[in-house]
Parts: sequence; C-alpha cells; structure tokens
Amino acid sequence: MTAVVYQNFIHGAFVANQSKETFPVVNPATDEVMYHVEVADEYIQKQAIGSAQQGFSKWSAMTPVERSRILNKAVYLLRERNDELAKVEVLDTGKPIQEADCVDIQTGADVIEYFAGLAPTQMGAQQPVGEDFFYTRQEPLGICAGIGAWNYPLQIACWKSGPALAAGNSLIFKPSEETPLGAIKLAEIFIEAGMPAGVFNVVQGAAKVGEWLSTHPDIEKVSFTGEVGTGKKVMQSAASNLKDVTMELGGKSPLIVFDDADISEAVSAAMLGNFYTQGEICTNCTRVYVHKNIYQEFLTELKTRTEQNIVAGDPLDPNVNLGALISKKHQQLVLDYIEQGKQEGATLLTGGHALKPESAPNGYFVAPTVFIDCSDEMTIVKEEIFGPVMSVLVFEDEDEVIARANDTELGLGAGVFSLNIQRAHRVIHQLKAGICWINSYGNSPAEMPVGGYQQSGIGRENGVETLNNYTQTKSVYVGMSKIDSPF
Ligand code: NDP
Repeated sequence: MTAVVYQNFIHGAFVANQSKETFPVVNPATDEVMYHVEVADEYIQKQAIGSAQQGFSKWSAMTPVERSRILNKAVYLLRERNDELAKVEVLDTGKPIQEADCVDIQTGADVIEYFAGLAPTQMGAQQPVGEDFFYTRQEPLGICAGIGAWNYPLQIACWKSGPALAAGNSLIFKPSEETPLGAIKLAEIFIEAGMPAGVFNVVQGAAKVGEWLSTHPDIEKVSFTGEVGTGKKVMQSAASNLKDVTMELGGKSPLIVFDDADISEAVSAAMLGNFYTQGEICTNCTRVYVHKNIYQEFLTELKTRTEQNIVAGDPLDPNVNLGALISKKHQQLVLDYIEQGKQEGATLLTGGHALKPESAPNGYFVAPTVFIDCSDEMTIVKEEIFGPVMSVLVFEDEDEVIARANDTELGLGAGVFSLNIQRAHRVIHQLKAGICWINSYGNSPAEMPVGGYQQSGIGRENGVETLNNYTQTKSVYVGMSKIDSPF
C-alpha cells in the first residue's frame, strides 16, 4: 500500500516541497502511522509569502460584505461536512467522536460566522477640530500568521482565521505537527467557498517552521496558541520586526466550590473541566478548592461518578467519553506527574495509571485521576499537566481561598460555585483570570472574548475586540482652513 503524503497548501493548491522531507502522523488511539506530511522547506516558505501578498491585495480590496459572503459560504460547508471533519479530528487527536461531532467543527464555524457578521459593521470615526476635521479608517494589517496547538486543531484554525480574514488580512497558518489535517480541510473549504487563492495558506512542520513565521519581516502579526515557554520564544522572535502578537497560552485554573453550592452541579463542572478531551484543555480547572463543610460529600459523588460514568476506548465509538492522549511521549509526561504527586504526599482518590481499553489496546490512555490531600506547594498543583489529572484541595475561608487561587503566575480561567450571588460575583472579581465562570465551566461562545491574565497570554480571541486587533487605525487630518505657517 502506498503511504498517503499531504503537501503544503499554497495559493489554493497542494504544492510539493523540494527537500522531500516529510514527517509521519500517528493515530493516538492505535499507535499506527496514518499518513505523512511534507515539511515546508525554504521553497514552500517563499511561495507561501508571495502567495499571501497576492491574496492580501485581492482580499483587502473587496468590500467587507463581499468577504462576509465568502466566509459564510465556508461556514455552511463546514457545517455540512461536520461528520467527515469530526472524524478527521478524532483520528488526529484521539479525542472522542461524541465531542468532536458536536463541539470542534460547530464552535469553529460559529466563530467564522460571528466575524463574517461583524466585518461589515466596522466603521471609522470622524471629529471636527476647529474648522478642520479628522477621520479614522480601520485598515487590515497585511499578512498575519497563525500557529496552533494540537488539542483543537480545526477549531483553532477557525478561531484565528475568522477575525483575521474578516478584517481583510491574509493568513499563513501552521498547525501542530501532530494534527496537521484539519487546517488543510479548512483551506480547501475556503477555496471552494470562493476565497481568492493565497488568502489562507497552510504550511506544515514543527518548531523551525513556527520560528520562520514568527521572524519573517513581511508578516505583521502572529497569533499563537500553545505553551507558555513556546509563547515567550515566539514573542522574542516577533520582536525582530515588532510584530503584533496574540498569545493564547497555558493555565492552572482554580475552581472554588463554596458550601452553599449545588454539589452535583459542582462535581459536573469539575469533571468537565478535568476529563473532557481527556484533560487536554487549556482552561481546565485542575485546582479544585472545596469548602471543608461539603468536602466529604463532594468527594463521594466525584469518586462514584468518575468510576462509573467514564468510558475509555476507541474514540470513534459514540459511547466512549474518554479518548487517548496525543502521543506516547505526552502519556508518559502525564504519568510522570502522577508519580510525582504520589511521591510528594498526595493521595489517589481514583485513577493514577495508564489504561488499555479492549477496543483500543495500543492507545495512549490515562485513567481519569483525582488526587486528594494536596497542598498548594505540590508540583501537581502548581504546573500545567494537560491530562486527566485533578487536584482537590480544602479551604475554610473566602479570603484564604482567593489568595490561594491567585498564587500562580498563570491566569487563564477560574470558576466559582455558590448560590449566593453576591459572594459569587465578589469572589470572581478578585480572581486573576481572563475567562471566568459562575455556576458553569468551560462554555466559550463566539461572542465572548477569551484570553489570559499574567503569563497565560496577551490579547483576546473571539468577541468584538478581536476584530479590531486585526486592524490598524489610520487617522486622516483634513485641512479646511488656510495653513497657519510662520514660514
Ligand atoms: P506547543 O507550545 O508545544 O506548540 C504550539 C505550536 O507552536 C505548535 O504548532 C508547535 O509546533 C509550535 N512551535 C513549537 N516551537 C515553536 C517555536 N520555537 N516557534 C514557533 N512555533 C513553535 O504547545 P502544544 O501544541 O503542546 O499545546 C499544548 C499547550 O497549548 C498547553 O500549554 C495549552 O494550555 C496551550 N493551549 C492554550 C490555549 C488557549 O487558548 N489559551 C488553547 C489550547 C492550548 P509543533 O507542535 O509542530 O512542534
């Protein structure tokens, strides 16, 4: 059987590289190579920039309404192909089809639709200054770059292309080397929807290709999703020509459950915020602070539901709700964290080991894991694990829990469960986090801006403000009176 090899997607077509260098892509649920992908070598990189320049000229000259129509056609195609695309994401990421089927493509399409709707509403301002006046124009930046993580590959490509393209920019997108196919599918859909060639190019490869994008002098902005450490490197590279940056980075988010909370609801949130997408979600509430009065009751329900309701196995089986981790290396990393948790004195309430489900015995599974007897200094409580590992901590007092929740350099998400509305708002307003939930966890509609405080990021995705982050303001001063000159 000949192996399938995907090429880079440049100027509306697949283009062969010259180096012949490729990398394999493995199905995390089977440990088998599914296909290979060509690396974007120097030849491809040059083509990508030339094409993006041409794409930008055409696309930025179109009216926002014209751009909007094309983006909406792409939204239609994304939704029409939901099942096929969801399967692509399952095979690349190892996540359950029951998630991909209703979340990944839909929430990606929602964001493109949202920005397609907003594009024609962008307006400048006008103000008189004496007899003269000035006006402003919101102009696109030019060529932008998107660099994505592997946990929501197609959704991330949509979340970056939606605002970038709606504002009239072209985008060169690099998906993670582990999940390269979703972005290619999106590129094909954009072309089918009538987008000019070069507006959305996909380049493939690992860090080297990401570095090239972040340093290239013709790229005006880089929007990055990934780890904090990589984000810092990307920012350093972007400083070479003072690129604008958006950074969507990691987190170690707290969930605070007060003793007046609906306990079952809080357990649902804690499970969603730790085990959905097998724990590979940036906003996960991996530090769960539970008030001492309800601690035992919370643990009993959490243990029962974790042990009875989670089904690991072949992610293509619609009954499976816990998939495989992205790679063998990542599985080992998560297991190492679990080992460290035990060594530092935390107790396993449940889980704490790899899994070999009958339907996917070679997959990189880790059992949903809950640690108790945790303290704030433990490594598992401090560092992002990015797997299904929850740490439960006890608290007694509101001020104490706020201080502990804020004792981190990160600041992506935070949640509060309480039926006392004043307390819920009071506490959430004091938490250092950009994405907060009260009596809920994880929902992220297109209309809501998302992004991190502190080292969890810079800038926002989604929401109205993001469209402005893909434009620059041009001020035009118009003289109506005679120039007042001493010369
Ligand atoms: P990484 O930081 O390892 O990689 C992210 C992307 O950057 C990948 O495409 C990667 O390529 C690329 N890359 C790696 N090195 C460089 C470099 N020096 N310059 C430019 N690009 C580079 O993150 P992961 O893919 O491991 O994703 C998991 C992380 O992403 C977690 O920390 C998670 O919290 C965060 N994340 C944040 C989100 C948010 O919205 N805040 C959402 C989703 C995830 P390659 O993978 O091919 O090596």
